Formats: sequence, structure tokens, C-alpha cells
Amino acid sequence: MSIAQVALDTPLPRTFDYLIPAACPLGTEDIGRRVRVSFGRRELWGILVGLADRSELPPEQLKPLLSVDRVLPPLPASLLALARFAADYYHYPYGACLLSLLPPALKRPVTPRPPPAYAYALTPAGIAAAQRLSPRATAQRRLAAHLMAGPVAAAELSGLKTTLRDWLKRGLIAAVKTPPRSPCHFTPEVAPTLGRGQAEAVGAILAKTDHFAAWLLFGVTGSGKTEVYLRLIEAVLGRGRQALVLVPEIHLTPQLTERFRRRYPAARLVSLHSGLSDGERYANWLACLNGGADIVLGTRLAVFAPLQRLGLIVVDEEHDPSYKQMEGLRYSARDVAVWRARQAGVPVVLGSATPALETWLNAQQGRYRRLDLPERAGAAALPEIRLVDTRTDRPRQGLSAALLAALEENLSRGAQSLVFINRRGYAPTLLCNACGHVTTCPRCAAHLVLHRQKGGFRLQCHHCGLTRPPPPSCPECGALDLRASGQGTQRLEETLAERFPEARILRVDRDSVARKGRFAAVRDAVHEGEVDILVGTQILAKGHDFPRLTLVGVVGADGALLSADYRAGERLFAQLMQVAGRAGRGGDPGRVLVQTAYPHHPLYQALVRHDYPAYAAQALAERRAAEFPPYVRQAMLRVDARSDEAAQAFLEAARALALELAQGVTVFDPAPALLARVANRSRWQLLTQSRSRSRLQAFLAAWVQRLRDLPASGLNWILDVDPLEF
Ligand SMILES: [Zn+2]
Ligand SMILES: [Zn+2]
Repeated sequence: MSIAQVALDTPLPRTFDYLIPAACPLGTEDIGRRVRVSFGRRELWGILVGLADRSELPPEQLKPLLSVDRVLPPLPASLLALARFAADYYHYPYGACLLSLLPPALKRPVTPRPPPAYAYALTPAGIAAAQRLSPRATAQRRLAAHLMAGPVAAAELSGLKTTLRDWLKRGLIAAVKTPPRSPCHFTPEVAPTLGRGQAEAVGAILAKTDHFAAWLLFGVTGSGKTEVYLRLIEAVLGRGRQALVLVPEIHLTPQLTERFRRRYPAARLVSLHSGLSDGERYANWLACLNGGADIVLGTRLAVFAPLQRLGLIVVDEEHDPSYKQMEGLRYSARDVAVWRARQAGVPVVLGSATPALETWLNAQQGRYRRLDLPERAGAAALPEIRLVDTRTDRPRQGLSAALLAALEENLSRGAQSLVFINRRGYAPTLLCNACGHVTTCPRCAAHLVLHRQKGGFRLQCHHCGLTRPPPPSCPECGALDLRASGQGTQRLEETLAERFPEARILRVDRDSVARKGRFAAVRDAVHEGEVDILVGTQILAKGHDFPRLTLVGVVGADGALLSADYRAGERLFAQLMQVAGRAGRGGDPGRVLVQTAYPHHPLYQALVRHDYPAYAAQALAERRAAEFPPYVRQAMLRVDARSDEAAQAFLEAARALALELAQGVTVFDPAPALLARVANRSRWQLLTQSRSRSRLQAFLAAWVQRLRDLPASGLNWILDVDPLEF
């Protein structure tokens, strides 16, 4: 073999041939190794994916490999196959796909040295100090909670650097070399007795762990899905296999990490998500590749972790839209997880209280097996959900009299409340009272959002990032009478502070927890009872366990009912069930008040009864009648260009090609995207769909090849298979 076939991160959908220098022979065992090559005028890292005797190119056109990375172990064949599947299914260039699965550090010209494999452990003085910490020392308590089960890799403590340095200085912790299995200072947490539903679910899945099966674990919030995962993981670890656990949200990883560590102190646990520094992510990825990880916990990108002994995949909150990558390789981590489990011959468990309609239908049609957890674990009952009719109880500054009264009452009892509004900033629009003009972004087809900052108010575009001071007068009519219209988290926080001056109010949204480690501090403050009223966006809705929280108010939810996106209702239902599920998890019954002008809407009626199956039945009937997914398969060709005309012309040409190729595939007309302009780029799209996935796939494969020949200067196009957004 004298030719190396190399996958490179380029838009070209093929591999590239290089000569293997005689001085560095390569064999099939080297497939998956990193190789350095020259490409055009650049040098790139690529992956060796094949060997051949000869190339289609004449020998004089072939360049030699520059070097071979023999330090990093070759990527496992299963990972190369996974990349191949993703590239084929999403019609994305194989090389670009494969390279995008590697940690960013591996694409740098100089390979970084992974951070030393040391860990931190409590010293005897530290163990004593950990048991005397005041409840207010939240950061220190978090650090102690991490370490109490034994040494923890440095990379896992990245959010706690200041405290870490302080404890090192005081001799409370010491750096140790990571032992293969860590000793434990504390007795591991004792597993609780399983409820009947949990025991049945665990039994059913464990009866079939040695081959592929896709399970839908359908359990209301608080029904103990995590305990089911923990039991399954225990069984998998016991057989010397690895467990991969996906969660939708970075902020959930520390919480789960702590829980897993308390239960399985000896297991080697690593996390993988985009919140890690390059070095940490590389170190953790390397631990996966070297077989030094037993449990991998991460967000969507972790679905591609290089694991050789995979025994189980769990996708928690499988319905969550964040599992879909919205740029580059537009994969769904849930769908890739199911494919990967099939490839590895292991079970995959999809957990949710509000499954994606796709998943629900898959379970109805027998492709997935459904297991129900119908009750909340322990004594906790489901919260009572009440609709507040805003046509009769008109909100003032966003808050109805009923919600204010409930907040007041909860406050007097010393219980915690949460006001949920899915809009960050102060107010969604700045409005001219004289002529009705709304300030819009000059670069996007979107309103500017009013934010309050230290120096006063700023207008901010949530799509392109533009910020500017509010105009002194209306740019349209010159009137000075401009006012903030509508509610955002900041304004609700302000209103609540005026109404309840004695209450401790904490706002939690993307702006307030942008800094690393900030979210953990919020969580601790809530746990320690240092907060009376939380005001927050969906960041708070996902999976967090706040035992003292007994009241949830929902503000401004109706917007989603009027959305042009047919999935908006599904997302709203899931979000409201999830946020309602935050209430009353500690034993005190919870209450949820939803402000709406449409109390008779079937979505709200199903919500009040906690009846996901009823909601799903009605939503699926609508989807079937309208020929929407999951009854059809879709692919969207998305374009952004300098002008509407350029985008439209490209899509018209693409449509003409599609019509030649389409058999059993419907090709729609080009249309502007819902958000039709972002950062001065016009965004258009062309939808194709079919009842048959294989027909659509065959069509897309042929179509993409032809699309690559269309003139496309100055515009970007990408195919989005199974699109989630419009
Ligand atoms: Zn005006
Ligand atoms: Zn903008």
C-alpha cells in the first residue's frame, strides 16, 4: 500500500490521496490516525481513513504525507462509521463531518499537550473543614460536595478555580496523580427503594442489555427517571462497559455529575460540553479515547465521544430542541444516539415527560418500546395548574391580580416562587406613542430589544448582536413620547421589587448567568433558601430540582400559540409542563398559575390535566391532516445571500433541478425564512418532503451533487435534514 486516503475539513465531498513516504510505512492498524498534509497552500490535519495501492491521480500530482501523529491513538472504526452515517444522512462532506467531531484543540497546527492527568483530593484537614462549612459558603460547599467521594480530575472543577486556589493555599486539598480507581472518603449514597414503575422499567431494560433496543421512558416531572438511569448505569459499569448520558443543557451537567459521583464514587466520570476550556475538553475527550472514562456526561456533542466499550446510551429530556445543532453539520443528537446504539448493539433510553411527537409516534408504531412512570416519586403530588383569564383579570405591568395575590401569600409563608417569562431583556420593543413606530434592527428583520444596563438603557438585537442607545425621539415622526412596550425578565424583576420590597428577588436568564460558574451559584442560593422570588427564562425550566419552590407563575406564554411555526405549540406545551414540574417537588404541594387570554385552547386544557397523551393525540391528528412531520420527512435547503434577488434566483435554479429528480418527493416554492434578514443577509429557504424517508434520502443524494455545480458566489447554502426551525 503506497497511497493514504485522507479525510480533510473541506467543503468537497471526497477524500484526498497522498503518498506514504517509505520512511514511515502505514498499515491498516493505523487507519483513524491523525496525519499532517499540505493542501493547496495550507497545511492541515486530516484523518487517515483508508489505504490503497494506486490513486486515480497520476503519481507526479500526488504529494507525500508530511507527518503522522503516533502519540494519539487511532480513532476507533466505530467512530469513523458514525461520521460516515452522519455525513450520508445529513448530506454533509465526510471530511468536514469527521473533523467537526474532534475537539477544537486537535485542529491547531501545534497539538496541545493535554493538561496533566492530576486530580485534587481533600486532605484530612480538608475533610474536617468540609463538615463544618457554613450554609452560606456556597462555592466552598460545592467544592466539598465534588471532592467528598474521592479525588476529582482538575478539568471537572473548572467552575471553581478561585475557591480551589484558596483551598490549596490553606492545605485543605492537595494535587494527586489520578489513580485508576479513586478511594472514597465517604460512604457512597445509598440507593433509594424503587417505586413499582421504576422497578418495572429497570427490569425490562436490563433483560435486554446485550442488543439494540430503543426505549421511551415516559415519566412525569419528578417521577424519578434519573434513578432509573442510575440503576441501568450501575449494571452497565458492573459488566465493564461504558455509559453515555446526554443532557440538553450545560448547566445541568454539574448537578448530575455530583449526583453520579455520590452514588458511584469509584467510577471514572468525565463531562463533554462546549462550556469547557479547549484544554479541558481535549483532556476529557482523550480520556474517552484511551478508555479511561466509565461514564460520559455531556450535551449534544458528546454523542460523538470516542468510546470502545459502549454499553448504554441515555438521552434525557429527549424532546429538547437543543439536541439539534443549528449550524454546520445540522445533526440531531437524539437521532444519532439511536443510530449509534443500533451500530453498537446496545440499548438507548430516551427519557421525557413530554416526548417529541416524532418519538411518541415511533413508540405508538412499535419502533420504540414505551415504559411509563405515571407517578411522582416519594410523597410529592403533581402541582395544581390553574389558568388565569387575562381578559377579565387584566395584568398590570405583566402581572394579574391573581398571580400577585398568590405571590404575596407564598411570600408570607416563607416559601419560594418562580415567575417564568421566556423573554430576556427589559422590554421586547420600544414603541412611539404618537405614530406606533417600533424600533427595528437596521441589519435584521427584527425588533430591537430594550435592555437595562449599568449606564442606563440600551437597544440590543438578539440576532446580530448590534447594540445602540435608544433614540431621543421617534426616528419616524420626531415625537419624544417613546415607551417600553411589553415585558422582559428585567422589567418583571423591577415590577416585583417595587411590589414586594422586602422580598429577595433573583433574575436568571442568559444575560445574568453568562459568566462561568454563575449558574451554580444561583442554584446554591436557591437551595440555601436565600431567594424568595425567581424571575427567569427557560434556563430555569430544565431539570433543576428546587425543593422549596411551591408556586410557579407563567407570564406571556400566549405568543407561541399565534406563531407561524407549526412546532411552536409542541415546544410551548413541553416548556410549560417542565416549568410547572419545578413546583412542589419537596413534599409541599405546588401550584402553577398560567396567565392567558385563551383559557379554552386545547393545549391549555390538556396542560391543566397534566395530560400529555391527550395533547399529543390532538397535535398528531393536526399534523397528519396537514401533512406535517412526523407523517412526512422534510429537508430544507437554506440560503443566505446579499440580496433577496440573489437568494431567490439560486433557489429557483435549485428548484428546477429538484423537479427533474423528484419522485415521490414534493418540492415547494422558495420562500423567505421566518427571520428573513439577519446581519444584512437575506435568508430564504426551499422545502422538500416525502412520506418515505428512503425516497427523500435518495432524492437528496442526487440533488446535492447537482447543487454543488450551481453558481453560488456570494451566497451560502446548506441542506437541513429534519429541520426544526422555519
Ligand atoms: Zn413616531
Ligand atoms: Zn440585528
